[in-house]
Amino acid sequence: MKRFNGYFGEYGGSYVPEDLKEVLKELEENFYKYVDDKDFKEELNYYFKDYVGRESPLYYAEKLTKYAGGAKIYLKREDLNHTGAHKINNAIGQALLAKRMGKNRIIAETGAGQHGVATATVCALFDMDCTVYMGAVDVKRQEHNVFRMELLGANVVPVREGNATLKEAVDKALEDFVKNAHNTFYLLGSAVGPHPYPIIVREFQSIIGKEARKQILEKENRLPDYLIACVGGGSNAIGLFHPFVNDKEVKFIGVEPAGKGIDSGYHAASISKGKPDIIHGFKCYTLDEKETNIHSIAAGLDYPGVGPEHSYYKDIKRAEYVSVTDKEALDAFYKLSKLEGIIPALESAHGIAYGIKLASTLPKDKIIIINLSGRGDKDINQIMDMGNII
Ligand SMILES: *Cc1c(COP(=O)(O)O)cnc(C)c1O
Repeated sequence: MKRFNGYFGEYGGSYVPEDLKEVLKELEENFYKYVDDKDFKEELNYYFKDYVGRESPLYYAEKLTKYAGGAKIYLKREDLNHTGAHKINNAIGQALLAKRMGKNRIIAETGAGQHGVATATVCALFDMDCTVYMGAVDVKRQEHNVFRMELLGANVVPVREGNATLKEAVDKALEDFVKNAHNTFYLLGSAVGPHPYPIIVREFQSIIGKEARKQILEKENRLPDYLIACVGGGSNAIGLFHPFVNDKEVKFIGVEPAGKGIDSGYHAASISKGKPDIIHGFKCYTLDEKETNIHSIAAGLDYPGVGPEHSYYKDIKRAEYVSVTDKEALDAFYKLSKLEGIIPALESAHGIAYGIKLASTLPKDKIIIINLSGRGDKDINQIMDMGNII
């Protein structure tokens, strides 16, 4: 892999204290050392295939296509992965890298708990010590995921400082990382954070787009017209998009959470509504939390920033970023369940909602691939508690 300075245009970079810089440098060196290493790649592919269950199918959603009444809709089935989403791809990749670096203690931070579960899973698999920092408020909100992590052998540490949510958990994890870097690896869950994390996460998630590219060429003998993915931090989206980046005719659409409405003050549409600034050690489009209450019906999408590569794609217009409300995502959640027998994660339902809308405006010979980033089992209790009419 070509060396990279960590900047996507003005975005990305590494705005961290000196001692953390050193630790990140060590990570970067090792990443470049192993990413093209034959044994490393073989081991990664082994776990992708026999543990995660890759490759994930590219499914022609015929009934959804008929319903939308326009372009052909394909779903990339990341929901069928072990643990039910794309996050495991990155967790396995980073854990194998940690092993190569001789670090047997893994730390992570999690808000909704999904990344914590993926991390705890790979730590069980690879026999690694696992500590997950989680805001005390989130620990309460996500008790099922906390139980799952503990079942898998992880130590979940509630963080009580400040608002006791994701931001405080990130601070704690960074503090731990700097102090214990000799034996500790910080396993980051999305295509965010200081360099080199965004390219590490992109590399391990790119399996999604590499497979999708090969699969659509087999099925349709041509590339798709559109790729659609929901965007929280942006890892499932960049994983799908990046292998198509030189295919100029393929349009990328990232779908952000518009929450209660894009102008309601309750959303997490960082690109659509944010401004360039530095958060968590890197530069990206970010929302001012004094003006916006970070909110989405999908817990995995409520992050105040977004990956630096998406921020750059927005400026150079390589990708388009749109948004979908809670209500639209919920409608798509029901629609896909009823029409295709596939219950999507609420995050993924954002992509489905926009995909239906777009398909209906296009002729039948156009092709759309939507990344179905995860399954909805994790969301069933939330939907039940909302007392929704079916
Ligand atoms: C975490 C999560 C997301 C959002 O994260 P990205 O880094 O933006 O991909 C999307 N879908 C599912 C199912 C998730 O668990």
